[in-house]
Amino acid sequence: MVDRSKLKSTLENERKSYLERNQKSLNLYNSGTNLFGKVPMTWMNKWSGGFPLYLDWAKGNRIKTVDGHTYIDFALGDTGAMGGHSPDAVAKAIQTRYGDLGGATTMLPTEDAQWVANELTNRFTMPLWSFTLSATDANRWALRIARMLTGKPKVLAFSYCYHGSVDETFVVTGTNNETKLRPGNVGAPTDINNTSRVAEFNDLASVEAQLKNNDVAVIITEPALTNIGIVLPEPGFLEGLRELADKYQALLLIDETHTFSAGYGGATKAWNLKPDLFTIGKSIGGGIPSGAYGLTEELADKVKYFNDADLVDVGGVGGTLSGNALSIAAMRATLESVLTESAFDHMISLATDFTNGVQKTLDETNTPWSISQLGARAEYRFASPAPRNGTDSANAADDELDEYLHLFMANKDVLMTPFHNMALMCPTTKKEDVKTHTELFSAAVTLIS
Ligand code: PMP
Repeated sequence: MVDRSKLKSTLENERKSYLERNQKSLNLYNSGTNLFGKVPMTWMNKWSGGFPLYLDWAKGNRIKTVDGHTYIDFALGDTGAMGGHSPDAVAKAIQTRYGDLGGATTMLPTEDAQWVANELTNRFTMPLWSFTLSATDANRWALRIARMLTGKPKVLAFSYCYHGSVDETFVVTGTNNETKLRPGNVGAPTDINNTSRVAEFNDLASVEAQLKNNDVAVIITEPALTNIGIVLPEPGFLEGLRELADKYQALLLIDETHTFSAGYGGATKAWNLKPDLFTIGKSIGGGIPSGAYGLTEELADKVKYFNDADLVDVGGVGGTLSGNALSIAAMRATLESVLTESAFDHMISLATDFTNGVQKTLDETNTPWSISQLGARAEYRFASPAPRNGTDSANAADDELDEYLHLFMANKDVLMTPFHNMALMCPTTKKEDVKTHTELFSAAVTLIS
């Protein structure tokens, strides 16, 4: 069990140590006077310790900061770098496309796009693809297509889900099961009830109660929630979602941006899912902005009947730089040479070691936390058993513990993702890196027990 007074004093020591060992980063942070929030993007203030570390270089699963520390990186850009930082094959493809051949944003297609679409079909089963520069945009556009095709106005999303800055998905369950705007949402464009309905993950009855209103165009979900800890689906839940979507003539959108960690073909292949729409981003471009949405032949056929849908200009599905030759070349190199089937075998085996190491400490110290694994990623959560849905998982949050564990690791040259206690393996992560984490985790828990 956690001893709160020990936690307070050890956290104080970790804060001091973080400050002392990262003075150059601190000075850079304090000189960011023309940056909103002192950082290039406001979320960078999420790193524990009061200021972020400043990057010198990153390669594979190592990051070196301006303060001279080299870290084992388990954050991997919160999945953007699941293939490792700057893998050689992607660096070469970028150099060739941008430097040698030339041409990143000519508005002309390249042959690579066909290769990438083919590969996405092999992996994720959807037959047709269109490209974006982020998973957020892939989701936005897939939702638009779903609304157009079904003629229904609303999106059903799960409480505490995250699908990027997509307005319709910022939902949480209210005390009477009503749909509520997620706390902290910045400048919501309209009452969330105009666009959205909420249900709880792993609760088909809550999904059906919402679908009965017959105004849901599409259910959007990750196959396992990964943005509020990892909440794994219970047996039958995802199959039940498929059946309910059909029963109420709603579409099913599977967002695999993070759950791609489940394997070579994501959870869709691993668990034989049957989505109507599919979205992905982040890791598929090896760190170069990329994303894609996939759809079935059946949906694509229906689109043809919407003659007034302006899919080629200002119809709301677009982006001048989307599908640009550089982004596509990066996707090809990543899929062809980096995030390969054998790379996934290695990554998943390491994540299993990581999970077993954490579980051993939890068992030995009688600590009431849990660890959940999804292929190449694993995450600990301050509840046992592991939460079954987003609302329960949100209730298990503990800011003090979070900060302590992040700083304890960071002060010993290990980075966990700043948004959660998530660790991801990449093709160059080694067994010894996992062992280092296992030993540190045990030491961190023992200090506060
Ligand atoms: N979908 C999921 C499941 C995500 O986790 C995220 C980001 N964490 C996104 C979409 C959005 O990705 P991006 O911010 O790169 O657009």
